[in-house]
Amino acid sequence: MNQPTPRLLPSLDTDNKSFWTGGERGELLIQRCLACGHYIHPPVPVCPKCLGRDVEAAPVSGKALIASYTLNHQQWVPNLEIPYVIAIVELAEQQGLRLTTNIINCPPDNVYIGMPVSVVFEKQEEIFLPLFEPREQRDEDGAPYPGPS
Ligand SMILES: [Zn+2]
Repeated sequence: MNQPTPRLLPSLDTDNKSFWTGGERGELLIQRCLACGHYIHPPVPVCPKCLGRDVEAAPVSGKALIASYTLNHQQWVPNLEIPYVIAIVELAEQQGLRLTTNIINCPPDNVYIGMPVSVVFEKQEEIFLPLFEPREQRDEDGAPYPGPS
């Protein structure tokens, strides 16, 4: 067995390389169909909407809403802080455009479905992992992030 790491690093191929390395320039790159403008994730070489084969990596805003999440209490490695949040976020650019990520810089108890988040990148080896943090900032009193109430 390989030594587990805090986050599983993807293996790069021609389809997904831009997604995992765009963070080097601070860009979240999502594959987009040149013919119909449809965003495609996970990346595949053919547009599922129009079957077009002209796709390219296009930068998106990095803004998203949490669509669902789960708390992981398993401490895979000694320095891994638990619990941590595994979430599916929906990018602002397109309904249903979702990716699986971690939510950071936020107490797990404060995470909720519909929470606005923004991308931040965490460099690990050659990969820039797109992680997400709350879009609202705490106010000066340190009040918690507003929930759906
Ligand atoms: Zn298309």
